[in-house]
Amino acid sequence: MNNQINILSSNVINQIAAGEVIQRPASVVKELLENSIDAKCKNIQIIIKNAGKTLIQVIDDGQGMNKEDAKICFEKHSTSKITKTEDILQISTMGFRGEALASIASVSEVKLKTKTQQEKSGTIIQIDNSKIKKVSTVATKTGTSISVKNLFFNIPARKNFLKSDQIEMKHILEVFTQIAIAHYHISFKLTHNNKSLYNISGTNLKKRIIQIFGNRYNKKILPIQEATSIVNVNGFIGNPLDAKKTRGEQFLYVNNRFIKTAYLNHAIKTAMENIITKDHHPSYFIFLDIPPQSVDVNVHPNKTEVKFEDEKAIYQIIKAAAKKSIGMNNIVPSLDFSIEKSFEIPVNVQNSIPQEPALKINANFNPFNEKNNRQKENTENIHKLFDEDNAFYLREIMNIDHRYAVFIMENEKSINIIDKKRAIERITYEKTKDSLMNSKQLIQLTIEPIEVNLNNIDIQIVKENSELIESLGYKIQEIRGEQIIFKSVPADMKNSNTQEVIESFIEELKLANTNINEKLINKLSRTIAYNTSIRQENFNHYEKNHLKSLILELLKCKTPFIDINGKPCVINIETNKIFN
Ligand code: ADP
Ligand code: MG
Repeated sequence: MNNQINILSSNVINQIAAGEVIQRPASVVKELLENSIDAKCKNIQIIIKNAGKTLIQVIDDGQGMNKEDAKICFEKHSTSKITKTEDILQISTMGFRGEALASIASVSEVKLKTKTQQEKSGTIIQIDNSKIKKVSTVATKTGTSISVKNLFFNIPARKNFLKSDQIEMKHILEVFTQIAIAHYHISFKLTHNNKSLYNISGTNLKKRIIQIFGNRYNKKILPIQEATSIVNVNGFIGNPLDAKKTRGEQFLYVNNRFIKTAYLNHAIKTAMENIITKDHHPSYFIFLDIPPQSVDVNVHPNKTEVKFEDEKAIYQIIKAAAKKSIGMNNIVPSLDFSIEKSFEIPVNVQNSIPQEPALKINANFNPFNEKNNRQKENTENIHKLFDEDNAFYLREIMNIDHRYAVFIMENEKSINIIDKKRAIERITYEKTKDSLMNSKQLIQLTIEPIEVNLNNIDIQIVKENSELIESLGYKIQEIRGEQIIFKSVPADMKNSNTQEVIESFIEELKLANTNINEKLINKLSRTIAYNTSIRQENFNHYEKNHLKSLILELLKCKTPFIDINGKPCVINIETNKIFN
C-alpha cells in the first residue's frame, strides 16, 4: 500500500502561510514598507502597476543586506530581529516572525537588489516559486529594492479572488497612509501606473497629516497629549465641529503600529458627547505608547488587533485626554457655511470667506480632572481673559434683532455673532448639569399635587428608582395603584409637562444600563435649558448690561461656542479674512 501521509514541500507550506499573511497586493505593500522601516531608511519609493497585481516595488535607503543574508531572507523563519524567546516581549520592530518574505516569494516572482554600507558591491537575487533562480553581483547604492511581480500567478484561485484595480488600490492607499502617518520623518514617493500620487518629504506629525489630507487640516486638528504610568498619549484629534457622518480619518497606533479597536474609538467619541451628534464620527490620529510587555499585538495575523492588559484604564485616559484637548482649544466656529447656514450673511461676503473654521486657542485653559480642578481653573483663566469687573475686555456689544447680537473683544480683529437663544440653552444646561452632578439640589417648588398616570411596569420602575427621581427634585407624595402624585418639581421645570418628563425618564431607565444617573441629569438639564430659553422667547429686550452678562456667562461655560445640539452659538468672523 502507498503511504498516505506526505511531508509537505516547503513551497506548499509557504503558500499556506501566505494565505494568512498575504491576502492581496496591499498586504505585500505593508510587509515591504515595514521591512524598509525596520531597516532604518530615510527615503522610500513605492512603484505600483495595475493596483499591485502586476508590480509592487519598494526601494529604500536603509541598511541593506549582505550577500549571505540576502540569500536566506526568503526562507521561512528567517529574521534578523529576534534570536531568543525573551526578545518577543521586547520587540519594537514592525515584523519579527520572519515569514513575510518567504510568503511573498512563494506566490510571486521576486527580485531583490541590496547592498550594505560595508560592502563595495551589492547583490541581485531572483526568485520564482520560492526557489533562487539567480544570484549576481551588481553596482548599486546602499539600501534595498524588492520588486514583486505577478502576484498569485501560481495560485489562480487567489488571483481570481482579487477585486477591481480601484478597490485593490484603495487598500494599498489605506496601508500607505497608515504607515506614512506613523513614520512622518520618512520621505515617501508613491507612483501608480507611472503617475505620481504622493511625493512627501520627512516632516513632523502635523505636517504629515496635512501632506496627506490637505491643507484644510491645518486648522481642523487639535493636539492631544497625556503622560501616565500606564500609557502615553500623543497626536491630534479632529475638531469635533468637522466630524463626519462617514467614519472618517481614524488612526490609532499602539507603539507606532496601526490598530483597530472599536472600544477605544468609543472612548474618543464619548469625550465629544454633547459636541458632536450621535451619527457623526470624529477623526483622530492618536499614538499610544505602552510598555511592550503589557500589549499583545500578535493576536491576529494581520496584527491590526491588540489585547491590552489595562484596557479599561486606557479607555479612561484616552477619554480624559480627548476632553482636555477639546477644552484647551476653545473651539470657536468661524464663518463656515458648511457648519451652519442659518446665520444670514450677505452673499458677497460669503464668497470672499475662506471655508475653514478657525480655532481660537486658549492654551492656559486646562479642564482636565473635571470634578476638582476643571471648574476652578476654567473660571480662573477665563476671568483673567474676560473679567466681569474689567469689562473693557468686551469692547463692543450690540443687539441685531430679537435672536442675534454682535460683540467684539478687546485686542481682537474679529466680529462675533452670538445666537442668544442657543447661548441661554448652553448656559442653563451647564449650570443645571453642574449643580445636579454635585448633587446640589435644584430649587424645588412646592406645587399643587401633580398626578402622573403610568402603566404597571413603569410604576415598578419608578418605585425602584424613587431615590434617584427624588434627588432630581421630583418629590413623590404618594403612589396609588398606577398613579404617582408629585408634591414638588424643580423650579425650572414648572412650565414643562411633568407627565412627559417622567415618561422620558422612565424610557431612559429602561434603555440605559450604565451611567443612568448621568444620563438622567443630561436629559433633565436639556429639558430645563429648552424651557428656560422658551420662557425668554423675546431676547430683544436685552439691554446692554444684560447682554454683556449673557456673553460673559457663555464664555465661562466648558463648551462655550457650541450649543447643546452641537451647533454653533457664536461664530467668529476675522476681518482680515473678509477683506484680503
Ligand atoms: P521579519 O520582518 O518578520 O523579520 P521578513 O520576512 O519580513 O521577516 O524579513 C526577513 C528578514 O529580511 C528581516 O528580518 C531582515 O533582516 C531582512 N530584510 C527584509 N527586508 C529588508 C530591507 N528592506 N532592508 C534590510 N533588510 C531587510
Ligand atoms: Mg517583515
